[in-house]
Amino acid sequence: MDSSHSPSYDVVIAGCGPTGAMLAAELRLHDVRVLVLEKETEPASFVRIVSLHIRSLELMAMRGLLESLLENGRRRPAGAYFAAIDKPAPKDLDSAYAYLLGIPQPVVERLLEEHAVRLGAEVRRGRAVAGFEQDGDGVTVELAGGERLRARYLVGCDGARSTVRKLLGVAFPGEPSRTETLMGELEVGVSQEEIAAKVAELRETHKSFSLGPFGGNAYRVVVPAAEVSDRAEPPTLDDFKRALHAIAGTDFGVHSPRWLSRFGDATRLAERYRVGRVLLAGDAAHIHPPAGGQGLNLGVQDAVNLGWKLAAQVRGRAPETLLDTYHAERHPVAEEVLDSTRAQVALMSDEPGARAVRRLLTELMDFDEVNRHLLGKTTAIGVRYDFGPGPDLLGRRLRDIDLKQGDLYGLLHRGRGLLLDRTERLTVGGWSDRVDYLADPTADLDVPCVLLRPDGHVAWIGDDQRDLDGHLSRWFGRPGD
Ligand SMILES: Cc1cc2nc3c(=O)[nH]c(=O)nc-3n(C[C@H](O)[C@H](O)[C@H](O)COP(=O)(O)OP(=O)(O)OC[C@H]3O[C@@H](n4cnc5c(N)ncnc54)[C@H](O)[C@@H]3O)c2cc1C
Repeated sequence: MDSSHSPSYDVVIAGCGPTGAMLAAELRLHDVRVLVLEKETEPASFVRIVSLHIRSLELMAMRGLLESLLENGRRRPAGAYFAAIDKPAPKDLDSAYAYLLGIPQPVVERLLEEHAVRLGAEVRRGRAVAGFEQDGDGVTVELAGGERLRARYLVGCDGARSTVRKLLGVAFPGEPSRTETLMGELEVGVSQEEIAAKVAELRETHKSFSLGPFGGNAYRVVVPAAEVSDRAEPPTLDDFKRALHAIAGTDFGVHSPRWLSRFGDATRLAERYRVGRVLLAGDAAHIHPPAGGQGLNLGVQDAVNLGWKLAAQVRGRAPETLLDTYHAERHPVAEEVLDSTRAQVALMSDEPGARAVRRLLTELMDFDEVNRHLLGKTTAIGVRYDFGPGPDLLGRRLRDIDLKQGDLYGLLHRGRGLLLDRTERLTVGGWSDRVDYLADPTADLDVPCVLLRPDGHVAWIGDDQRDLDGHLSRWFGRPGD
């Protein structure tokens, strides 16, 4: 591909969903020249309400975005988080953000895109990535319509049917969809009372069916499809009528759809998150049923893990293997989420055996440790990356804590590393262009010092300067002058 006259970027991102927008913002924190190419001309019109879990809320607080999300969402207690089992979250959770935020996905996407653009990312809509070729110096990206661009790296954040993943030839093993669900907003032709009676009866046996008022004359309909089509295009009004008839014996006179969509329960994980200069993140790398509400959370967390590493690589100061830690750290996390959703789907089945296991787990969740373990998985506050031997805190995210200068997360908005030093003896020396330093003997920690990566994970614990210097090199590369 000849791209000699095309503009150049450090990173081109395919897809401006939540993952792509978050990644663009993270890269901009480090002045990386970013272009986001989005296939659709307009943001999605369908209003899927998603749950943001504790770790994502923490990340939003770390980047100064939480307030605007809270203004647009509804907070609720963090309970009933696993297979919708009706149990409260354990008490005294180790987080200042121990709740769940229900919020329309288009609002999350808008706020993240605005954040990325504010930081200087360029977003071009109506521009789909159709091909690419990589060589030793970069990637030539071809858009639908033939335009070519040159970038040093390409990241596929282009969702479940990722073009980038397919062109990369990365295997996507797992299970295909066995069920499909239709979801939409429509008007109905029967009375509210009639609907309520029928819905109450059907919910006894069909846990994935719902039909309820959604503002104005509209009703939100969620109904199992008659068959698995695995198609990308939205279903039709007739598809809804048939599916409703099949389970309710009536189509409730549905008409005048605002939007119609479908989703399956395929569960798949990309074998590799990186091939040379091309990487995958979000749904492009992993898909699973929405049980537990984790997909968007996982994608945003991928973006925060990848952003600072790719930025360091682009700026030529990443330690040799830093970029590969993205796959090493995030692939196992996705593997666990996939398993957790497999388990939740099984627990929501109407089979007698599954119902018995669900009853048993409901009892087990009364044990605080079981409840805490499951919550740690679902909300991602239990994630621990393998940084080698060390105290339990090593590799985990650090909760937000009070400091004499305010709260810890307030100091992480710029996406830099941070040395939090209770001994007041250490220094970040030649890494001060990448790592902030804060001496605070009053910090609420039971270790002398912690080195935080830009994603808020604990990269080092100790009180020895030489040991610290080794770890600063390991994560942040050679010191500057
Ligand atoms: C019913 C339902 C409920 C859900 N509830 C939750 C929940 O409660 N919590 C949660 O965390 N997750 C939830 N999810 C999952 C969540 O919606 C997804 O995981 C999330 O959208 C993934 O974000 P993404 O940015 O990786 O991909 P996407 O949101 O799919 O974004 C990909 C973007 O790439 C664009 N694109 C595609 N191809 C190209 C191309 N070739 N070139 C350029 N652009 C391209 C697309 O137009 C799109 O804008 C739910 C999903 C469903 C179906």
